[in-house]
Amino acid sequence: MNIRIQHSEAVVIGAGFAGLAAATRLSDLGLSVTVIEKHATAGGRARMFESDGFKFDMGPSWYWMPDVFEQFFNTAGESVDKYLDLIRLDPSYKVWFDDGPVNIPASLGRVRALFESIEPGSGPAFDRFMKEAGEKYRLGMAEFVWKPGNSIWEFAKPEALFSAMNMSMFSSLSRHIRNHFSHPKIIQLLEFPVLFLGSRPENSPALYSLMNYADTALGTWYPMGGMYEIVRSMEMLARKKGVRFVLDTEVTGIVAKEGQVSNVTFTGGSIECDVVIAGADYHHVEQRLLPTPWRLYDNEYWESRKMSPGALIYYIGVDKRLPNLEHHNLFFDVPFEAHANAIYDNPGWPLDPLFYVAAPSKTDPSVAPEGCENLFILVPLAAGLQPHGNEYEVLFDNVISRLEQAVGSDIRSSIVFKRSYAHKDFQDDYNAFRGNAYGLANTMNQTAFMKPKMKSKLPGLFYAGQLTTPGPGVPPSLISGQVAAEEAFQWTSKTKISKTKKTEVAAL
Ligand SMILES: Cc1cc2nc3c(=O)[nH]c(=O)nc-3n(C[C@H](O)[C@H](O)[C@H](O)COP(=O)(O)OP(=O)(O)OC[C@H]3O[C@@H](n4cnc5c(N)ncnc54)[C@H](O)[C@@H]3O)c2cc1C
Repeated sequence: MNIRIQHSEAVVIGAGFAGLAAATRLSDLGLSVTVIEKHATAGGRARMFESDGFKFDMGPSWYWMPDVFEQFFNTAGESVDKYLDLIRLDPSYKVWFDDGPVNIPASLGRVRALFESIEPGSGPAFDRFMKEAGEKYRLGMAEFVWKPGNSIWEFAKPEALFSAMNMSMFSSLSRHIRNHFSHPKIIQLLEFPVLFLGSRPENSPALYSLMNYADTALGTWYPMGGMYEIVRSMEMLARKKGVRFVLDTEVTGIVAKEGQVSNVTFTGGSIECDVVIAGADYHHVEQRLLPTPWRLYDNEYWESRKMSPGALIYYIGVDKRLPNLEHHNLFFDVPFEAHANAIYDNPGWPLDPLFYVAAPSKTDPSVAPEGCENLFILVPLAAGLQPHGNEYEVLFDNVISRLEQAVGSDIRSSIVFKRSYAHKDFQDDYNAFRGNAYGLANTMNQTAFMKPKMKSKLPGLFYAGQLTTPGPGVPPSLISGQVAAEEAFQWTSKTKISKTKKTEVAAL
Protein backbone atom coordinates (compact mmCIF):
# COMPACT_ATOMS: atom_id res chain seq x y z
CA MET A 1 0.00 0.00 0.00
CA ASN A 2 1.23 3.44 -0.86
CA ILE A 3 0.89 5.68 2.19
CA ARG A 4 1.60 9.35 1.94
CA ILE A 5 1.93 10.03 5.67
CA GLN A 6 5.66 10.16 6.39
CA HIS A 7 5.63 11.21 10.01
CA SER A 8 3.20 10.80 12.87
CA GLU A 9 4.07 11.60 16.48
CA ALA A 10 2.39 8.38 17.54
CA VAL A 11 1.77 5.14 15.65
CA VAL A 12 -0.68 2.57 17.00
CA ILE A 13 -0.36 -0.98 15.66
CA GLY A 14 -3.74 -2.69 15.43
CA ALA A 15 -7.30 -1.35 15.57
CA GLY A 16 -8.71 -3.75 18.18
CA PHE A 17 -10.35 -2.27 21.28
CA ALA A 18 -7.00 -1.54 22.92
CA GLY A 19 -5.60 0.17 19.81
CA LEU A 20 -8.75 2.24 19.31
CA ALA A 21 -8.79 3.33 22.96
CA ALA A 22 -5.07 4.19 22.90
CA ALA A 23 -5.36 6.18 19.67
CA THR A 24 -8.32 8.24 20.90
CA ARG A 25 -6.63 9.04 24.21
CA LEU A 26 -3.31 9.96 22.57
CA SER A 27 -5.07 12.23 20.14
CA ASP A 28 -6.96 13.88 23.00
CA LEU A 29 -3.64 14.44 24.72
CA GLY A 30 -2.52 16.40 21.68
CA LEU A 31 -0.40 13.99 19.59
CA SER A 32 -0.83 13.32 15.89
CA VAL A 33 -1.83 9.64 15.71
CA THR A 34 -1.86 7.04 12.94
CA VAL A 35 -3.37 3.58 13.40
CA ILE A 36 -2.09 0.83 11.12
CA GLU A 37 -4.34 -2.22 10.93
CA LYS A 38 -3.83 -5.51 9.09
CA HIS A 39 -7.51 -5.94 8.23
CA ALA A 40 -9.74 -3.83 6.04
CA THR A 41 -11.97 -3.07 9.03
CA ALA A 42 -11.30 -2.17 12.66
CA GLY A 43 -12.30 -4.34 15.64
CA GLY A 44 -9.76 -7.17 15.73
CA ARG A 45 -11.25 -10.16 17.54
CA ALA A 46 -14.52 -8.23 17.69
CA ARG A 47 -14.92 -7.91 13.92
CA MET A 48 -18.18 -8.96 12.27
CA PHE A 49 -19.23 -10.47 8.98
CA GLU A 50 -22.51 -10.62 7.08
CA SER A 51 -23.80 -13.52 5.03
CA ASP A 52 -27.20 -14.68 3.75
CA GLY A 53 -28.92 -11.85 5.61
CA PHE A 54 -27.28 -12.75 8.97
CA LYS A 55 -24.93 -10.39 10.81
CA PHE A 56 -22.44 -12.28 13.00
CA ASP A 57 -20.32 -10.74 15.73
CA MET A 58 -17.15 -12.80 15.47
CA GLY A 59 -15.89 -12.55 19.06
CA PRO A 60 -17.29 -10.87 22.17
CA SER A 61 -20.99 -11.11 22.88
CA TRP A 62 -21.23 -10.15 26.58
CA TYR A 63 -21.32 -6.42 27.33
CA TRP A 64 -20.18 -6.34 30.95
CA MET A 65 -18.83 -3.55 33.19
CA PRO A 66 -20.83 -0.70 31.59
CA ASP A 67 -18.99 1.76 33.86
CA VAL A 68 -15.77 1.19 31.88
CA PHE A 69 -17.44 2.06 28.56
CA GLU A 70 -18.99 5.16 30.18
CA GLN A 71 -15.59 6.18 31.52
CA PHE A 72 -14.01 5.79 28.07
CA PHE A 73 -16.58 7.97 26.30
CA ASN A 74 -16.70 10.51 29.17
CA THR A 75 -12.91 10.92 29.17
CA ALA A 76 -13.16 11.77 25.48
CA GLY A 77 -15.81 14.40 26.36
CA GLU A 78 -18.66 12.27 24.98
CA SER A 79 -21.45 10.13 26.32
CA VAL A 80 -21.88 6.42 25.62
CA ASP A 81 -25.64 6.90 25.12
CA LYS A 82 -24.97 9.18 22.18
CA TYR A 83 -23.19 6.32 20.41
CA LEU A 84 -24.83 3.10 21.63
CA ASP A 85 -28.43 2.03 22.12
CA LEU A 86 -27.86 -0.15 25.18
CA ILE A 87 -30.42 -2.40 26.76
CA ARG A 88 -30.06 -4.47 29.91
CA LEU A 89 -30.88 -8.13 29.30
CA ASP A 90 -33.36 -9.81 31.65
CA PRO A 91 -32.75 -12.63 32.27
CA SER A 92 -29.05 -11.90 32.13
CA TYR A 93 -28.52 -15.45 30.87
CA LYS A 94 -29.91 -18.97 31.03
CA VAL A 95 -28.04 -21.97 32.37
CA TRP A 96 -28.99 -25.47 31.27
CA PHE A 97 -28.29 -28.09 33.94
CA ASP A 98 -28.86 -31.85 33.54
CA ASP A 99 -32.27 -31.49 35.23
CA GLY A 100 -33.40 -28.41 33.29
CA PRO A 101 -32.68 -24.72 32.75
CA VAL A 102 -32.41 -21.85 35.22
CA ASN A 103 -32.81 -18.20 34.23
CA ILE A 104 -30.46 -15.80 36.00
CA PRO A 105 -32.49 -12.66 36.65
CA ALA A 106 -31.20 -9.13 36.24
CA SER A 107 -31.40 -7.98 39.85
CA LEU A 108 -29.49 -8.80 43.01
CA GLY A 109 -32.70 -9.42 44.99
CA ARG A 110 -34.05 -11.93 42.48
CA VAL A 111 -30.70 -13.73 42.18
CA ARG A 112 -30.65 -13.98 46.00
CA ALA A 113 -34.14 -15.52 45.93
CA LEU A 114 -32.98 -17.96 43.24
CA PHE A 115 -29.98 -19.01 45.37
CA GLU A 116 -32.30 -19.49 48.36
CA SER A 117 -34.52 -21.74 46.23
CA ILE A 118 -31.54 -23.85 45.18
CA GLU A 119 -29.74 -23.90 48.55
CA PRO A 120 -32.16 -23.01 51.37
CA GLY A 121 -30.52 -20.68 53.89
CA SER A 122 -27.91 -19.39 51.43
CA GLY A 123 -29.36 -15.84 51.33
CA PRO A 124 -27.12 -14.36 54.06
CA ALA A 125 -24.05 -16.04 52.49
CA PHE A 126 -25.08 -14.49 49.15
CA ASP A 127 -25.27 -11.03 50.80
CA ARG A 128 -21.79 -11.46 52.32
CA PHE A 129 -20.33 -12.87 49.08
CA MET A 130 -21.73 -10.07 46.91
CA LYS A 131 -20.79 -7.33 49.40
CA GLU A 132 -17.20 -8.56 49.35
CA ALA A 133 -17.25 -9.02 45.57
CA GLY A 134 -18.44 -5.39 45.25
CA GLU A 135 -15.63 -4.19 47.52
CA LYS A 136 -13.13 -6.16 45.43
CA TYR A 137 -14.53 -4.61 42.27
CA ARG A 138 -14.17 -1.09 43.72
CA LEU A 139 -10.73 -1.78 45.20
CA GLY A 140 -9.58 -3.54 42.03
CA MET A 141 -10.68 -0.61 39.88
CA ALA A 142 -9.20 2.00 42.22
CA GLU A 143 -5.88 0.36 43.04
CA PHE A 144 -5.01 -2.54 40.75
CA VAL A 145 -6.53 -2.24 37.28
CA TRP A 146 -5.60 1.24 36.09
CA LYS A 147 -1.87 0.53 36.35
CA PRO A 148 0.75 -0.26 33.69
CA GLY A 149 1.98 -3.20 35.80
CA ASN A 150 5.62 -2.32 35.16
CA SER A 151 6.65 -2.84 38.78
CA ILE A 152 5.40 -4.37 42.02
CA TRP A 153 5.78 -0.94 43.67
CA GLU A 154 2.76 0.37 41.76
CA PHE A 155 0.68 -1.95 43.92
CA ALA A 156 2.41 -1.26 47.21
CA LYS A 157 -0.10 1.11 48.83
CA PRO A 158 -0.27 -0.41 52.34
CA GLU A 159 -4.03 0.23 52.86
CA ALA A 160 -4.86 -1.39 49.51
CA LEU A 161 -2.67 -4.42 50.19
CA PHE A 162 -4.13 -4.74 53.68
CA SER A 163 -7.70 -4.66 52.29
CA ALA A 164 -6.73 -7.17 49.60
CA MET A 165 -5.28 -9.59 52.17
CA ASN A 166 -8.30 -9.06 54.39
CA MET A 167 -10.60 -10.07 51.55
CA SER A 168 -8.38 -13.07 50.77
CA MET A 169 -8.03 -11.75 47.22
CA PHE A 170 -5.02 -13.92 46.55
CA SER A 171 -6.36 -17.27 47.81
CA SER A 172 -8.17 -19.61 45.41
CA LEU A 173 -11.51 -18.59 43.95
CA SER A 174 -12.73 -22.16 44.19
CA ARG A 175 -12.12 -22.26 47.97
CA HIS A 176 -13.61 -18.79 48.41
CA ILE A 177 -16.88 -19.82 46.70
CA ARG A 178 -17.06 -23.10 48.65
CA ASN A 179 -16.58 -21.18 51.90
CA HIS A 180 -19.94 -19.55 51.17
CA PHE A 181 -21.98 -22.14 49.26
CA SER A 182 -22.22 -25.89 48.96
CA HIS A 183 -24.80 -26.61 46.22
CA PRO A 184 -23.03 -27.69 42.99
CA LYS A 185 -25.37 -25.56 40.84
CA ILE A 186 -24.52 -22.39 42.74
CA ILE A 187 -20.83 -23.27 42.64
CA GLN A 188 -21.00 -23.75 38.85
CA LEU A 189 -22.92 -20.50 38.41
CA LEU A 190 -20.29 -18.53 40.31
CA GLU A 191 -17.33 -20.29 38.72
CA PHE A 192 -18.44 -19.85 35.11
CA PRO A 193 -16.94 -16.38 34.41
CA VAL A 194 -13.38 -17.54 35.14
CA LEU A 195 -13.90 -21.00 33.73
CA PHE A 196 -14.73 -19.83 30.23
CA LEU A 197 -12.24 -16.97 30.18
CA GLY A 198 -9.34 -18.11 32.23
CA SER A 199 -8.36 -21.20 34.09
CA ARG A 200 -9.55 -23.71 36.64
CA PRO A 201 -11.17 -21.87 39.56
CA GLU A 202 -8.73 -23.71 41.90
CA ASN A 203 -5.90 -21.82 40.17
CA SER A 204 -7.61 -18.43 39.87
CA PRO A 205 -7.21 -15.88 42.66
CA ALA A 206 -10.37 -15.03 44.62
CA LEU A 207 -9.86 -11.48 43.32
CA TYR A 208 -11.87 -12.67 40.30
CA SER A 209 -15.06 -12.97 42.34
CA LEU A 210 -15.27 -9.30 41.30
CA MET A 211 -16.53 -10.81 38.03
CA ASN A 212 -19.55 -12.18 39.93
CA TYR A 213 -20.28 -8.65 41.08
CA ALA A 214 -19.87 -7.35 37.51
CA ASP A 215 -22.21 -10.06 36.26
CA THR A 216 -24.91 -9.92 38.93
CA ALA A 217 -24.94 -6.34 40.17
CA LEU A 218 -23.76 -4.32 37.15
CA GLY A 219 -25.66 -6.46 34.66
CA THR A 220 -25.42 -7.93 31.20
CA TRP A 221 -26.12 -5.39 28.47
CA TYR A 222 -26.44 -5.44 24.70
CA PRO A 223 -25.85 -2.68 22.15
CA MET A 224 -28.66 -2.86 19.59
CA GLY A 225 -27.23 -3.61 16.16
CA GLY A 226 -24.66 -5.97 17.70
CA MET A 227 -21.36 -5.81 19.56
CA TYR A 228 -19.70 -4.44 16.43
CA GLU A 229 -21.57 -1.18 17.11
CA ILE A 230 -19.03 -0.58 19.89
CA VAL A 231 -16.19 -0.85 17.39
CA ARG A 232 -18.00 1.36 14.88
CA SER A 233 -18.61 4.01 17.56
CA MET A 234 -15.04 3.95 18.80
CA GLU A 235 -13.64 4.23 15.28
CA MET A 236 -16.02 7.12 14.57
CA LEU A 237 -14.94 8.87 17.76
CA ALA A 238 -11.25 8.33 16.99
CA ARG A 239 -11.68 9.77 13.49
CA LYS A 240 -13.57 12.73 14.96
CA LYS A 241 -10.54 13.36 17.19
CA GLY A 242 -8.31 13.43 14.11
CA VAL A 243 -6.83 9.93 14.28
CA ARG A 244 -5.74 8.67 10.84
CA PHE A 245 -6.43 5.05 9.90
CA VAL A 246 -4.33 3.03 7.51
CA LEU A 247 -6.34 -0.16 7.02
CA ASP A 248 -5.58 -3.36 5.15
CA THR A 249 -1.88 -2.88 5.90
CA GLU A 250 0.31 -5.18 7.97
CA VAL A 251 3.13 -3.79 10.10
CA THR A 252 6.35 -5.66 9.36
CA GLY A 253 8.83 -4.11 11.79
CA ILE A 254 9.65 -1.56 14.49
CA VAL A 255 12.92 0.26 13.87
CA ALA A 256 15.15 1.69 16.60
CA LYS A 257 17.61 4.55 16.09
CA GLU A 258 19.88 6.11 18.72
CA GLY A 259 18.38 3.86 21.37
CA GLN A 260 14.74 4.66 20.82
CA VAL A 261 11.82 4.07 18.48
CA SER A 262 12.23 5.82 15.15
CA ASN A 263 10.11 4.10 12.47
CA VAL A 264 7.41 1.57 11.86
CA THR A 265 7.67 -0.40 8.62
CA PHE A 266 4.71 -1.99 6.87
CA THR A 267 3.96 -3.81 3.63
CA GLY A 268 5.03 -1.22 1.10
CA GLY A 269 6.50 1.57 3.23
CA SER A 270 7.64 3.11 6.46
CA ILE A 271 6.48 5.88 8.79
CA GLU A 272 8.61 7.95 11.18
CA CYS A 273 7.34 8.37 14.71
CA ASP A 274 8.30 9.36 18.26
CA VAL A 275 6.27 6.77 20.07
CA VAL A 276 4.56 3.46 19.25
CA ILE A 277 1.72 1.66 21.02
CA ALA A 278 1.49 -1.96 19.95
CA GLY A 279 -2.12 -3.14 20.23
CA ALA A 280 -1.43 -6.29 18.18
CA ASP A 281 -0.67 -9.51 20.11
CA TYR A 282 2.31 -8.90 22.40
CA HIS A 283 4.12 -12.10 21.40
CA HIS A 284 3.85 -11.28 17.68
CA VAL A 285 5.17 -7.74 18.19
CA GLU A 286 8.12 -8.76 20.41
CA GLN A 287 9.13 -11.92 18.58
CA ARG A 288 8.40 -10.92 14.99
CA LEU A 289 8.49 -7.12 14.69
CA LEU A 290 11.13 -6.05 17.22
CA PRO A 291 14.89 -6.52 16.80
CA THR A 292 16.19 -9.18 19.24
CA PRO A 293 18.22 -6.86 21.53
CA TRP A 294 15.05 -4.98 22.47
CA ARG A 295 13.01 -8.02 23.50
CA LEU A 296 12.10 -8.39 27.18
CA TYR A 297 11.04 -12.02 26.83
CA ASP A 298 12.46 -15.02 25.00
CA ASN A 299 10.82 -18.08 23.48
CA GLU A 300 11.26 -20.05 26.69
CA TYR A 301 9.26 -17.41 28.56
CA TRP A 302 6.39 -17.57 26.07
CA GLU A 303 6.40 -21.37 25.95
CA SER A 304 6.06 -21.44 29.74
CA ARG A 305 2.96 -19.17 29.76
CA LYS A 306 -0.42 -20.69 30.58
CA MET A 307 -2.94 -19.63 27.99
CA SER A 308 -6.71 -19.26 28.40
CA PRO A 309 -8.70 -21.99 26.71
CA GLY A 310 -8.86 -21.81 22.93
CA ALA A 311 -12.24 -21.28 21.29
CA LEU A 312 -13.97 -23.33 18.64
CA ILE A 313 -16.79 -21.19 17.27
CA TYR A 314 -19.66 -22.04 14.95
CA TYR A 315 -21.61 -19.18 13.36
CA ILE A 316 -25.00 -20.63 12.44
CA GLY A 317 -28.00 -19.23 10.58
CA VAL A 318 -31.26 -21.12 11.17
CA ASP A 319 -34.33 -20.47 9.02
CA LYS A 320 -36.84 -20.68 11.88
CA ARG A 321 -37.21 -19.32 15.40
CA LEU A 322 -36.00 -21.55 18.25
CA PRO A 323 -38.16 -21.61 21.37
CA ASN A 324 -36.75 -21.76 24.90
CA LEU A 325 -33.41 -20.11 24.13
CA GLU A 326 -32.48 -16.76 25.71
CA HIS A 327 -29.96 -14.27 24.36
CA HIS A 328 -27.13 -15.94 26.35
CA ASN A 329 -27.25 -19.68 27.11
CA LEU A 330 -24.73 -21.80 28.98
CA PHE A 331 -24.90 -25.55 28.63
CA PHE A 332 -23.76 -27.12 31.89
CA ASP A 333 -25.89 -30.19 31.26
CA VAL A 334 -22.99 -32.66 31.58
CA PRO A 335 -20.30 -33.03 34.29
CA PHE A 336 -17.40 -30.63 33.70
CA GLU A 337 -14.50 -32.71 35.04
CA ALA A 338 -13.73 -34.65 31.83
CA HIS A 339 -13.93 -31.48 29.72
CA ALA A 340 -11.76 -29.54 32.23
CA ASN A 341 -9.22 -32.33 32.09
CA ALA A 342 -9.17 -32.13 28.26
CA ILE A 343 -8.67 -28.34 28.42
CA TYR A 344 -6.18 -27.94 31.24
CA ASP A 345 -4.45 -31.21 32.16
CA ASN A 346 -4.29 -33.62 29.20
CA PRO A 347 -4.99 -31.48 26.12
CA GLY A 348 -7.33 -33.35 23.81
CA TRP A 349 -10.76 -33.35 22.17
CA PRO A 350 -13.61 -33.49 24.68
CA LEU A 351 -16.41 -35.97 24.05
CA ASP A 352 -19.18 -34.12 25.85
CA PRO A 353 -18.09 -30.49 26.26
CA LEU A 354 -19.76 -27.64 28.11
CA PHE A 355 -20.65 -24.95 25.60
CA TYR A 356 -22.13 -21.49 25.19
CA VAL A 357 -24.77 -20.31 22.72
CA ALA A 358 -25.57 -16.67 21.97
CA ALA A 359 -28.80 -16.03 20.12
CA PRO A 360 -28.69 -12.23 19.62
CA SER A 361 -31.69 -12.48 17.28
CA LYS A 362 -33.76 -13.05 20.46
CA THR A 363 -33.15 -9.36 21.26
CA ASP A 364 -32.23 -7.76 17.98
CA PRO A 365 -34.18 -8.28 14.72
CA SER A 366 -31.40 -6.61 12.71
CA VAL A 367 -28.99 -9.58 13.03
CA ALA A 368 -31.08 -12.20 11.19
CA PRO A 369 -33.69 -12.27 8.43
CA GLU A 370 -37.28 -12.24 9.67
CA GLY A 371 -38.37 -15.53 11.21
CA CYS A 372 -34.75 -16.75 11.50
CA GLU A 373 -32.31 -17.25 14.38
CA ASN A 374 -28.67 -16.14 14.56
CA LEU A 375 -26.57 -18.53 16.69
CA PHE A 376 -23.00 -18.17 17.93
CA ILE A 377 -21.84 -21.42 19.52
CA LEU A 378 -18.57 -21.54 21.44
CA VAL A 379 -16.81 -24.65 22.76
CA PRO A 380 -13.76 -23.98 24.97
CA LEU A 381 -10.79 -26.19 24.02
CA ALA A 382 -7.22 -26.70 25.15
CA ALA A 383 -5.03 -23.82 23.95
CA GLY A 384 -3.37 -24.56 20.62
CA LEU A 385 -5.34 -27.76 19.93
CA GLN A 386 -5.25 -28.59 16.20
CA PRO A 387 -7.68 -30.95 14.45
CA HIS A 388 -6.29 -33.98 12.61
CA GLY A 389 -9.54 -35.24 11.12
CA ASN A 390 -13.22 -34.42 11.45
CA GLU A 391 -13.11 -33.28 15.09
CA TYR A 392 -15.02 -30.03 14.38
CA GLU A 393 -17.88 -32.03 12.81
CA VAL A 394 -17.98 -34.58 15.62
CA LEU A 395 -18.21 -31.82 18.22
CA PHE A 396 -20.80 -29.95 16.18
CA ASP A 397 -22.97 -33.05 16.05
CA ASN A 398 -22.72 -33.49 19.80
CA VAL A 399 -23.55 -29.86 20.52
CA ILE A 400 -26.45 -29.64 18.05
CA SER A 401 -28.02 -32.83 19.42
CA ARG A 402 -27.99 -31.40 22.93
CA LEU A 403 -29.27 -28.06 21.68
CA GLU A 404 -32.12 -29.77 19.80
CA GLN A 405 -33.05 -31.68 22.93
CA ALA A 406 -32.99 -28.48 24.99
CA VAL A 407 -35.16 -26.41 22.68
CA GLY A 408 -37.37 -29.37 21.76
CA SER A 409 -37.09 -28.73 18.05
CA ASP A 410 -35.12 -30.01 15.05
CA ILE A 411 -32.29 -27.65 14.12
CA ARG A 412 -30.08 -29.59 11.68
CA SER A 413 -32.50 -29.51 8.77
CA SER A 414 -33.08 -25.75 9.23
CA ILE A 415 -29.44 -24.65 9.09
CA VAL A 416 -29.03 -22.28 6.15
CA PHE A 417 -25.60 -20.88 7.03
CA LYS A 418 -22.65 -22.44 8.86
CA ARG A 419 -19.05 -21.36 9.38
CA SER A 420 -16.56 -22.61 11.93
CA TYR A 421 -13.64 -20.60 13.30
CA ALA A 422 -10.85 -21.75 15.64
CA HIS A 423 -7.23 -21.85 16.63
CA LYS A 424 -5.60 -21.55 13.16
CA ASP A 425 -7.97 -18.74 12.15
CA PHE A 426 -6.90 -16.73 15.21
CA GLN A 427 -3.29 -17.34 14.25
CA ASP A 428 -3.76 -16.36 10.59
CA ASP A 429 -6.08 -13.41 11.22
CA TYR A 430 -4.54 -11.85 14.34
CA ASN A 431 -1.02 -13.27 14.51
CA ALA A 432 -2.24 -14.83 17.75
CA PHE A 433 0.34 -16.72 19.82
CA ARG A 434 -0.69 -20.40 19.92
CA GLY A 435 -3.95 -19.35 18.27
CA ASN A 436 -5.09 -17.78 21.54
CA ALA A 437 -8.64 -16.45 21.66
CA TYR A 438 -8.47 -14.46 24.89
CA GLY A 439 -4.88 -14.27 25.97
CA LEU A 440 -3.23 -15.56 29.10
CA ALA A 441 -5.01 -17.60 31.73
CA ASN A 442 -5.99 -15.60 34.81
CA THR A 443 -3.71 -17.49 37.16
CA MET A 444 -2.12 -16.04 40.28
CA ASN A 445 1.37 -15.73 38.79
CA GLN A 446 0.08 -14.15 35.58
CA THR A 447 -1.79 -11.33 37.29
CA ALA A 448 -0.94 -7.59 37.47
CA PHE A 449 2.82 -6.89 37.40
CA MET A 450 3.46 -10.57 36.58
CA LYS A 451 1.90 -10.14 33.12
CA PRO A 452 4.06 -9.11 30.14
CA LYS A 453 4.98 -5.50 30.84
CA MET A 454 3.35 -2.54 29.15
CA LYS A 455 6.66 -0.70 28.84
CA SER A 456 9.12 -2.19 26.36
CA LYS A 457 12.87 -2.37 26.78
CA LEU A 458 12.96 -0.15 23.68
CA PRO A 459 12.32 3.44 24.81
CA GLY A 460 9.24 4.85 23.09
CA LEU A 461 7.49 1.49 22.60
CA PHE A 462 4.51 0.52 24.76
CA TYR A 463 2.15 -2.46 24.60
CA ALA A 464 -1.61 -2.52 25.05
CA GLY A 465 -4.25 -5.20 24.76
CA GLN A 466 -5.31 -8.47 26.21
CA LEU A 467 -1.82 -9.99 26.70
CA THR A 468 -0.61 -7.19 28.96
CA THR A 469 -2.29 -5.47 31.94
CA PRO A 470 -5.03 -5.64 33.07
CA GLY A 471 -5.90 -8.68 30.86
CA PRO A 472 -8.46 -10.21 28.51
CA GLY A 473 -11.97 -8.87 27.87
CA VAL A 474 -13.36 -5.79 26.15
CA PRO A 475 -13.42 -3.52 29.24
CA PRO A 476 -9.84 -4.49 30.26
CA SER A 477 -8.69 -3.81 26.68
CA LEU A 478 -10.26 -0.33 26.82
CA ILE A 479 -8.44 0.30 30.10
CA SER A 480 -5.19 -1.10 28.74
CA GLY A 481 -5.25 1.19 25.71
CA GLN A 482 -5.86 4.26 27.82
CA VAL A 483 -3.18 3.43 30.41
CA ALA A 484 -0.66 2.75 27.63
CA ALA A 485 -1.58 6.09 26.03
CA GLU A 486 -0.93 7.95 29.30
CA GLU A 487 2.43 6.19 29.68
CA ALA A 488 3.37 6.96 26.08
CA PHE A 489 2.33 10.58 26.44
CA GLN A 490 4.42 11.04 29.60
CA TRP A 491 7.38 9.51 27.79
CA THR A 492 7.08 11.86 24.79
CA SER A 493 6.71 14.87 27.10
CA LYS A 494 9.90 13.91 28.97
CA THR A 495 11.90 13.31 25.78
CA LYS A 496 10.69 16.59 24.29
CA ILE A 497 11.84 18.45 27.41
CA SER A 498 15.24 16.75 27.38
CA LYS A 499 15.64 17.41 23.62
CA THR A 500 14.79 21.10 24.19
CA LYS A 501 17.33 21.26 27.04
CA LYS A 502 20.01 19.65 24.86
CA THR A 503 19.32 22.20 22.10
CA GLU A 504 19.46 25.07 24.60
CA VAL A 505 22.78 23.81 26.03
CA ALA A 506 24.17 23.40 22.49
CA ALA A 507 23.12 26.96 21.68
CA LEU A 508 24.97 28.44 24.69
C1 LIG B 1 -14.50 -15.78 20.74
C2 LIG B 1 -14.27 -14.68 21.73
C3 LIG B 1 -15.29 -14.33 22.60
C4 LIG B 1 -15.09 -13.30 23.51
N1 LIG B 1 -16.13 -12.92 24.31
C5 LIG B 1 -15.99 -11.81 25.07
C6 LIG B 1 -17.13 -11.24 25.69
O1 LIG B 1 -18.24 -11.75 25.54
N2 LIG B 1 -16.96 -10.10 26.43
C7 LIG B 1 -15.74 -9.51 26.59
O2 LIG B 1 -15.64 -8.49 27.26
N3 LIG B 1 -14.64 -10.03 25.98
C8 LIG B 1 -14.75 -11.13 25.20
N4 LIG B 1 -13.67 -11.62 24.53
C9 LIG B 1 -12.36 -10.99 24.71
C10 LIG B 1 -12.22 -9.70 23.93
O3 LIG B 1 -12.86 -9.81 22.69
C11 LIG B 1 -10.74 -9.41 23.69
O4 LIG B 1 -10.06 -9.43 24.95
C12 LIG B 1 -10.51 -8.04 23.05
O5 LIG B 1 -11.32 -7.88 21.92
C13 LIG B 1 -9.02 -7.94 22.68
O6 LIG B 1 -8.78 -6.69 22.11
P1 LIG B 1 -7.29 -6.29 21.71
O7 LIG B 1 -7.37 -4.90 21.21
O8 LIG B 1 -6.37 -6.58 22.83
O9 LIG B 1 -6.84 -7.32 20.56
P2 LIG B 1 -7.39 -7.61 19.09
O10 LIG B 1 -8.85 -7.48 19.05
O11 LIG B 1 -6.83 -8.89 18.64
O12 LIG B 1 -6.75 -6.44 18.21
C14 LIG B 1 -5.44 -6.51 17.70
C15 LIG B 1 -5.45 -5.97 16.30
O13 LIG B 1 -4.10 -5.96 15.80
C16 LIG B 1 -4.14 -6.32 14.44
N5 LIG B 1 -2.81 -6.81 14.03
C17 LIG B 1 -2.19 -7.95 14.38
N6 LIG B 1 -0.96 -7.99 13.84
C18 LIG B 1 -0.81 -6.86 13.12
C19 LIG B 1 0.24 -6.33 12.32
N7 LIG B 1 1.41 -6.96 12.16
N8 LIG B 1 0.03 -5.14 11.69
C20 LIG B 1 -1.15 -4.47 11.84
N9 LIG B 1 -2.15 -4.92 12.59
C21 LIG B 1 -1.99 -6.10 13.23
C22 LIG B 1 -5.21 -7.38 14.36
O14 LIG B 1 -5.71 -7.54 13.04
C23 LIG B 1 -6.26 -6.81 15.32
O15 LIG B 1 -7.18 -5.99 14.65
C24 LIG B 1 -13.84 -12.64 23.58
C25 LIG B 1 -12.81 -12.99 22.71
C26 LIG B 1 -13.02 -14.00 21.78
C27 LIG B 1 -11.93 -14.35 20.83
